[in-house]
Amino acid sequence: MEKANHDTNKKFDVCIIGAGIAGATMAANLAKTGKEIVIVERNLSERDVIIGELLQPGGVQRLQEMGFESFLDNIDAQPVYGYDIIFEEKDFHIPYPNKNGEPAGYGFRNGAFLQNIRKHILAQNNITVIEGRVTELNEKENLIIGVSYLPKGAAKEEKLQADLTIVTDGPMSKFREELSNPVKKVNGHFLGLLLKNCELPYPNHGHMFMGNHPPFVIYPVTSDAWRILIDFKGEQAPKLGHDFKKFLLETFAGHIPQSARASFVDAVDEGNFKMFPNHRLPAAPIKKVGAVLLGDSLNMRHPLTGGGMTAVFADVKNLGENLATVKEFSDKKAVSKAVQKYYDTRHLGTQATNILADGLYGVVYNPNLRRAFFEYVSRGGKYSEETISILAGLNMDKKLLLNHFIGLARYGTKLKLKSAVNPLKKGDGAMKMMKTATKSGETVAGTLNMVKDALLIITPLLLTEKPDAATKLMLKTLSRKPE
Ligand SMILES: Cc1cc2nc3c(=O)[nH]c(=O)nc-3n(C[C@H](O)[C@H](O)[C@H](O)COP(=O)(O)OP(=O)(O)OC[C@H]3O[C@@H](n4cnc5c(N)ncnc54)[C@H](O)[C@@H]3O)c2cc1C
Repeated sequence: MEKANHDTNKKFDVCIIGAGIAGATMAANLAKTGKEIVIVERNLSERDVIIGELLQPGGVQRLQEMGFESFLDNIDAQPVYGYDIIFEEKDFHIPYPNKNGEPAGYGFRNGAFLQNIRKHILAQNNITVIEGRVTELNEKENLIIGVSYLPKGAAKEEKLQADLTIVTDGPMSKFREELSNPVKKVNGHFLGLLLKNCELPYPNHGHMFMGNHPPFVIYPVTSDAWRILIDFKGEQAPKLGHDFKKFLLETFAGHIPQSARASFVDAVDEGNFKMFPNHRLPAAPIKKVGAVLLGDSLNMRHPLTGGGMTAVFADVKNLGENLATVKEFSDKKAVSKAVQKYYDTRHLGTQATNILADGLYGVVYNPNLRRAFFEYVSRGGKYSEETISILAGLNMDKKLLLNHFIGLARYGTKLKLKSAVNPLKKGDGAMKMMKTATKSGETVAGTLNMVKDALLIITPLLLTEKPDAATKLMLKTLSRKPE
């Protein structure tokens, strides 16, 4: 990919920092309005990463709506039709909804997908693509007026002027501090490996494994390879030494389906380990005229549910639609209004994805709740269909998500109480009842903790996603009787 020539005195309508998933798609989207755009990317060559390799159907739908479905062409992308959920020795298959012609999801190598988007923007006359590293946001009288950057291979910095700077410098963003109040948390790390030439129980499906082991997901990324991502909880990444390899081969490998185990062992032996931190970053933008945050620099959720790019494309579409209403980008007031509207409304397209991602992450690490989750979705019907529609990014109904979240905790509690070995006798007092041991040795009070645990997981997530109506709803939901 080549760097485009550009006139150094030119003032652009928009400058974008980072031609990653968000920045490159945003450039493509804005270019449709005829605006003059410059995008600066520190490395235009194809990247070999483990992030962003399963695009949920909702993300595909957003691409279609923007006219960018062709980004998925000619990269050996694999259609994904749903999930198999594996819990201990059991599994349950949940197809994505496609009753109304909703698209499938797609698995692909992130680098190949991104190069497709970059090829598209390089072909647009009104997009200037520069390979270089942005070093600074330039400010004048409380207004962002462009950026300074170091062109690739150059010793001297250059400047770019633009009416609006869109910051999309990704998960390790250097500039988010200037444009938001970020409270970033590392929940754990994903180890990524490629499983080559093997089968999994469901071809063209995602597989999510949960049980008494690190949770992991496997999905197809090319016609002959599957991506496996294994979660290691905690702020520190595990050390990739001899002991770690031994753990993977001798303890963990037993959880991989037999049909893929040899490929897993080969991948571990090959040792091409890639590890990436999994963040939670609620969006907390601050108003600054002339700049806006987009993508992982603004908002991140756990990648267990593969929702990141779906959220990004919802934001790209939203911001694009709002900016399309601005005639002249030199009209600061109009641009600020469009940016504010994007910040005020973006939760409608992202909050369900965000809450589900971090909520499910909490569930898979709680032995009672993950069992309850499995039993709940295994009931089929609305219990699996509505849950998968939210995971797919096709259903953004936060109320529905909350109902299911609390519903699964209640259902799990009910199942546990039912299986209690010591049925309560008439006349037992409340205290005695709470202390009565169940079959598994837990107390009834212990099993009731499931609802409390679910609330502990979901409440902080609600409080960071436009909380008022949702909190009310949660309380209302809780006052209902168990199903
Ligand atoms: C382990 C992991 C797995 C994931 N898996 C999935 C998945 O399966 N499905 C899914 O939908 N989402 C997934 N995600 C999330 C998804 O990858 C992100 O949401 C998405 O990539 C965000 O796009 P972005 O453009 O903000 O960041 P990026 O795609 O990372 O792009 C940022 C760009 O900015 C450039 N840049 C940075 N600093 C500068 C600078 N100073 N100057 C110039 N350029 C700069 C970078 O080189 C890069 O090209 C995953 C995330 C993780 C951590």
